[in-house]
Amino acid sequence: MTLQSFGVIGLAVMGENIALNVERNGFPIAVYNRSREKTDAFMAQRAGGRNVKAAFTLEEFVAALERPRKILVMVQAGKPVDAVIQQLKPLLDEGDIIIDGGNSWFEDTQRRTQELEPAGLRFLGMGVSGGEEGALNGPSLMPGGTQSSYEYLSPIFNKIAAQVDDGPCVTYVGPGGSGHYVKMVHNGIEYGDMQLIAEAYDLLRNAGGLSAKELHEVFAQWNTTDELNSFLIEITANIFPYVDPETKLPLVDLIVDAAGQKGTGRWTVQTALELGVSIPTITAAVNARIISSIRDERIAASKQLTGPSGKYDGSTKEFINKVRDALYCSKICSYAQGMALLSTASTTFNWNLNLSELARIWKGGCIIRAGFLNKIKKAFNENPALPNLLLAPEFKQTILDRQAAWREVIITAAKLGIPVPAFSASLDYFDSYRRDRLPQNLTQAQRDYFGAHTYLRTDKAGVFHTEWVPITEAKK
Ligand code: NAP
Repeated sequence: MTLQSFGVIGLAVMGENIALNVERNGFPIAVYNRSREKTDAFMAQRAGGRNVKAAFTLEEFVAALERPRKILVMVQAGKPVDAVIQQLKPLLDEGDIIIDGGNSWFEDTQRRTQELEPAGLRFLGMGVSGGEEGALNGPSLMPGGTQSSYEYLSPIFNKIAAQVDDGPCVTYVGPGGSGHYVKMVHNGIEYGDMQLIAEAYDLLRNAGGLSAKELHEVFAQWNTTDELNSFLIEITANIFPYVDPETKLPLVDLIVDAAGQKGTGRWTVQTALELGVSIPTITAAVNARIISSIRDERIAASKQLTGPSGKYDGSTKEFINKVRDALYCSKICSYAQGMALLSTASTTFNWNLNLSELARIWKGGCIIRAGFLNKIKKAFNENPALPNLLLAPEFKQTILDRQAAWREVIITAAKLGIPVPAFSASLDYFDSYRRDRLPQNLTQAQRDYFGAHTYLRTDKAGVFHTEWVPITEAKK
């Protein structure tokens, strides 16, 4: 029997598409899915005429693969990954490689690595971004784990990944759970991008009074610019002219304004808090989804809580350009936060992440793909020790040139009662980062006052405590 060179477990959206991608690139595949129906449907439809062997038990699946076996697990993150690994483990041989391609929590990946590698198996935790289309035609791949396992698989990864002007969108991210960590931060940045675009849309629609057709034109034009050209701006431009066949209204206007989330944005915020890295734009994006989801409560509140409303009273053309500048400055801040988080994680976990390389592999295939990532790649290439993206010469200049417009847009939003949490959080991040003195001297005084937490002084060395008022014990 001829053996297949690559195996995929899990035939939902991602597994099915990545399996076809692997096969199209010259690697015969074996597939397995827990419930038989998906495998049957896959074989009857999309796998027809391709070099695919279907297996209906894991024993059959393992027997169909050449050694060392290369197995991509694309199942729901969490317990299902452990379940699959536990079932596979006794069937595998020394040197076989399991790749978890789902959105796994990075600490789970570290734990699984520690369980599998001493037992002679090899394990990679690989972030995969690009959704259905990316998985099929070329995703961005973020593999982490033992480097020799990555090297062994890199001929396959290099072929199936998205291809951009400077190579395939895959690189060795680092050891342990670093690949999944980087994918999680990618998703956090994606949340930030999506919220910033939503705020630009809200301003243009409600303060600028733009119609769906005009919104399409603005976003389509922005997508031709060096700074904003990106997958998310492109799909936004495509969404506005889509007319609902039933009502003949723009479909976007009929969609319920409550955003879902699957957890990677929340994880990004949680880990940032644990590592002590400030990521306010991404946090604002997660919060915006949370508040959007209490829709009934918001509708009830809208009948009781009043505030300003109205339209921007200046030139619409100028307003559009100011919103574009605000969007771009905010986006720079959001990426600055994401990269700062990766930098701290790299030091904390000893991952030796190459931020320039990570920006490069996000240039194609993934949801945040954008021309702008070239500038980030260049910034970290020129100075790998750059403390913050805001200090890269190009971004510094952009913000200097455009901050007046950015501030004006936020003022306009506040005056008209339009929430712009991610725009504001970005500007606050910029203003906090650039201040040589923040008001936390007062915070320190308060902490010392009520809790004797002590403070440092600007004028002399040492640790100080002050008895701010005499403390007396209450009488009996
Ligand atoms: P999914 O909906 O997350 O998971 C469904 C798949 O998991 C099915 O094949 C299902 O098998 C299998 N599964 C669930 N529990 C299982 C268990 N206990 N044992 C064995 N198999 C089990 O699928 P997906 O959307 O394709 O995503 C796969 C992974 O990629 C996830 O980690 C997801 O977060 C990540 N991801 C998704 C996207 C996306 O755009 N969808 C993008 C990037 C990354 P049955 O058919 O038997 O139920």
